[in-house]
Amino acid sequence: MVREQVIKARRWVVKVGSSLLTNDGAGLDLALMALWVEQIQYLRARGIEVVLVSSGAVSEGMKRLGWSERPHALHDLQAAAAVGQMGVVQAYESCFQRHGLHTAQILLTHDDLANRQRHLNARSTLRTLLKLGVIPIVNENDTVAVEEIRFGDNDTLAGLVTNLIEAELLVMLTDQDGVYDSDPRNNSNAKFIHEAQAGDPELEGMAAGGGSGRLGRGGMLTKVRAAERAARSGALSIIASGRESDVLSKIADGEQLGTMLVPAAEPLAARKQWLASQLNLGGKLVLDDGAVKALKHSGGSLLAVGVSLVEGDFHRGDVVTCVDWRGEEVARGLINYSAEESKKIRGQSSEQIEALLGYVDEAELIHRDNLVLMGR
Ligand code: GLU
Repeated sequence: MVREQVIKARRWVVKVGSSLLTNDGAGLDLALMALWVEQIQYLRARGIEVVLVSSGAVSEGMKRLGWSERPHALHDLQAAAAVGQMGVVQAYESCFQRHGLHTAQILLTHDDLANRQRHLNARSTLRTLLKLGVIPIVNENDTVAVEEIRFGDNDTLAGLVTNLIEAELLVMLTDQDGVYDSDPRNNSNAKFIHEAQAGDPELEGMAAGGGSGRLGRGGMLTKVRAAERAARSGALSIIASGRESDVLSKIADGEQLGTMLVPAAEPLAARKQWLASQLNLGGKLVLDDGAVKALKHSGGSLLAVGVSLVEGDFHRGDVVTCVDWRGEEVARGLINYSAEESKKIRGQSSEQIEALLGYVDEAELIHRDNLVLMGR
């Protein structure tokens, strides 16, 4: 049943760690990268959208600068990341170009994703890139943030990106097979965990015993926590070895590889809970009957034409409540336009938005992916 969900997943986030990518500091492993790229092309051919979250910038920068020891000062690590990022994107770009695929560089911070406006902007850009068939390659913006340099190695970022684009699957490729119940390097009886519930505290305890590689800051604990984060928007996570041949293609074909972490709730319910947990209702939209019907029965987005009244003060990216003429709540969602803009375009067709505002952000007031139906 869970494997079926993996096979059906149409949007993946694939995270590649530093020690794997740079062969534990020996420089970018171009041969290995070429193999993943080939598999990502296979996924694309199967209609799967892929966002790659890749670290390796600090490690590649250290190599380029001739530093054999990882420096302790954060500013040195940040400088190394700035140097190494050039190599990381260069390597991906030439690998993907060989398959006729374009890549895009996305540098993000945790703060960017916590800020509603930037969150929504990042989301729109990523969605647009995926629509264009481009492979977005995400890393932390290490010049301005240090969260992932300190302890994440992009594990947390990968979980956040999974929430951001509502990916159905997060695959974390690492230099270990997955999670064991104890450290297999010290305990020959260590048992491999094939499947567990994301967020299981027992699992965190097991992962904490694993330790991390010399260069990778992540380790199993941050991966298990990233899976818990991914599960909040309903995604499954798999932690698997990036050295396993055809690892991504095998996962796509439903093969049981690595440790699979499953959300406690059914994906749609998790997504609903996730949106609900973000609620900070900034405003209210009163919908006409046509819009109520479109939302409830046709699974449509909310268009400006269906809104009769706009109340409250809110910004693009705020959560607003949508009610029918009786005041009964129909839905809640992340709105693409501010209160001021919404007031100008309410009741008008989407084609009118540009004429009324002078620009168009999105055709929908609330995209259906950002909308949760309330009540029955
Ligand atoms: N974002 C960093 C990188 O890409 C994190 C990894 C690290 O600190 O080594 O290199």
